[in-house]
Amino acid sequence: MSENKTKLAIIIPCFNEELVVKSTVETLLRVLDDIAGKGKISEESYIYLVDDGSKDKTWDIIEDLHNTYGSRVKGTKFIRNYGNQKALIAGLLGVKDIGCDCVVSIDADLQQDENAIEIFVDEYHKGADIVSGIRNDRKTDSFFKKYTALCFYRLMNILGVKIPPNHSDFRLVSYKALEILEKYSEEGLFLRGFFHEIGLKTAYVHFDVKPRALGSSKFNFFSLTSLALNGITAFSIVPLRIIAVIGFLTVLGSFVFALEVISEKYFFHTTPNGWATLVILLAFFGGLQIFCLGIIGEYMGQIFNEVKARPRYIKDRELI
Ligand code: UDP
Ligand code: MG
Repeated sequence: MSENKTKLAIIIPCFNEELVVKSTVETLLRVLDDIAGKGKISEESYIYLVDDGSKDKTWDIIEDLHNTYGSRVKGTKFIRNYGNQKALIAGLLGVKDIGCDCVVSIDADLQQDENAIEIFVDEYHKGADIVSGIRNDRKTDSFFKKYTALCFYRLMNILGVKIPPNHSDFRLVSYKALEILEKYSEEGLFLRGFFHEIGLKTAYVHFDVKPRALGSSKFNFFSLTSLALNGITAFSIVPLRIIAVIGFLTVLGSFVFALEVISEKYFFHTTPNGWATLVILLAFFGGLQIFCLGIIGEYMGQIFNEVKARPRYIKDRELI
């Protein structure tokens, strides 16, 4: 594919962003013009806004922008607020249907450095299917957000989901990645985990985060916790497995404990009558119960993986 035919779509999830959406779109149109001027993308590149059920004037502004800029500014509106991940997925699948070669997702407040988009495109031309934006630092985040985010990435790594820390939803993905995304029908898909898991060629680009110009963050403690929990449970059944391990260790421990209690009873005669039997049984059955729960957890994990109905494999190439 020749470079200047590359049709780039930029998707922007918007939730109550009336204060910023117009200037963001205008800035991004300039960025598109600039990159198209250098012959790296086609003139037909466009912006696709997903209004995630805003209650303010966001959609009216999007309609105005569409009337002004025509097919360069497209959009869709959710009937209610579904959350940023679903808005992103709708954007990705939306531009796949409309038509594009690659797509960049960026926040409506333009906290991410829009000038990195050109570097994303360069990486795409060098052969990357996914170009992930990595934040240089978290200076613009509150103390709380910074540390909870760090803990989240560390925990995800321990649980086997090896996504790099300071990962963001600012990324470019190719049409090929969108075709794979379409095969994942599960409802609670966590995009950062997904794009990492599918194993396409990935490049990383570092970018600076600016403070939010206007308006306030659309995330609160509860939506962030829910995003983090969703990320963990959608990609890892390790927490279930931990239960089985704890149970097994408790049963093992109960044998050691039993030896100690028995020796205390027969050699030192320090335990009251009946106490030894009681504590041994208590420790043993306590452990056994947790272990059994863990085994049930293993089966639940299997069911959980099955109901997600993810594609069993994705073929990259084929010769017939
Ligand atoms: N957003 C969304 N739905 C929501 C919450 C947020 O579409 O329920 C969008 C929001 O409009 C913005 C992006 O997700 O474009 C990131 O949100 P925000 O900038 O508030 O998050 P922060 O930068 O504070 O992490
Ligand atoms: Mg923001």
